[in-house]
Amino acid sequence: MNTADVANPVPFLDLITPHVELEERLLAVVNRALATAGFIGGPMVEELENAFAAYCHTRHCIGVNSGTDALRFALLAAGIRAGDAVITVCNTFIATTEAISQAGAQPVFVDVDESTGNLDPGELQKFLENQCGIDAQGRLETRNGLRIKAIVPVHLYGQPADMDPILELAERYRLTVIEDACQAHGAAYFSKRQGKWLKAGSMGRAGAFSFYPGKNLGACGDAGAVTTNDEDLARKVRMLRDHGQEQKYYHRIEGYNGRLDAIQAGFLKLKLAYLDEWNRQRRAIAKYYDGRFAAAAGIAAIRELPSARGVYHLYVISVADRDRLRDGLASAGIGTGIHYPVPLHLQEAYRKLGYWRGDFPVAERLASSILSLPMFPHLRVEQQRRVADAVLEFARADGPAVAVA
Ligand SMILES: *Cc1c(COP(=O)(O)O)cnc(C)c1O
Repeated sequence: MNTADVANPVPFLDLITPHVELEERLLAVVNRALATAGFIGGPMVEELENAFAAYCHTRHCIGVNSGTDALRFALLAAGIRAGDAVITVCNTFIATTEAISQAGAQPVFVDVDESTGNLDPGELQKFLENQCGIDAQGRLETRNGLRIKAIVPVHLYGQPADMDPILELAERYRLTVIEDACQAHGAAYFSKRQGKWLKAGSMGRAGAFSFYPGKNLGACGDAGAVTTNDEDLARKVRMLRDHGQEQKYYHRIEGYNGRLDAIQAGFLKLKLAYLDEWNRQRRAIAKYYDGRFAAAAGIAAIRELPSARGVYHLYVISVADRDRLRDGLASAGIGTGIHYPVPLHLQEAYRKLGYWRGDFPVAERLASSILSLPMFPHLRVEQQRRVADAVLEFARADGPAVAVA
């Protein structure tokens, strides 16, 4: 078969088909909002919040206007402020660290596990034991005297981070855990400590979700949510998203304009009913890709933990000659992405943090070898086959590549 079927490209992501399928019902949502002129907050937002809290198995869900604000409000509501440090990973979207900085704290990075791409609990433990000090009050601090308050594990690509050991360390060192679940709607993790499956966003003190259009559950615009079982944190996030008021024009604190609008909430409530089915389709595609690449020397897929059920926001492989493979796929009309090409500690914006190349070798190696393949629920079987055929063809053309993961 000719993989170079440029007349019939395979897009990296198709956001049109699902919206065509749902068009009538989406328009009904718009009509409902127009009929009541309840555009910001109101019953449509509350209906989504209740449905998404139930979906995530949390007591509360607070709709906000983006995943970035969900992270920022969760951190602020958890008491993170200037002079604090927050531990996270450097192979994430910059929103994770923007939220930390904008809460007034400093991001501190720990390296990741090569097979999952997620925060490595062993590295976290080494960092806490060897690179931190204890101040006069017995609190954990960084070498430059910042008080370490929280950990933000990222469930990258829709794969849950290894939460049992992370939560255990957090308890031991009295750190708050805020999950960046912006890519992990519906992902689940089997907790051996609790003896049950837990949903992403329900394991830490709070979870932050993005409903950016391309996410597994996406709005038709910007949107996000905080999930939590913590009543006090939920109340603070509600205040933060709405100018610090609980009662109109009575401001207990200064907040933000970070509300969710009714039309987006209505769209999300409608799409939430399809999320499990869409995630099943993503998992089936991932299983197909896994099977095709299993025997290929030089192609390593980012893997799911045995104790996790990922939702494949992205399907990511790691190859030695990534840029050549990417060009080859482009010439065959196949769209790809890189998530992310430059780790945050090497970004110009974070030069001030004082890190160097070589500080996080695993994350750096992944950044130079990862490639995200087409992955979306409506990816057709023959498109999946063309992607896999082309990857195998161009990876083989690279000769005896060396697996890096
Ligand atoms: C998308 C994303 C965010 C930010 O979400 P927005 O809704 O775009 O603000 C944060 N963290 C991760 C890991 C993301 O993928």
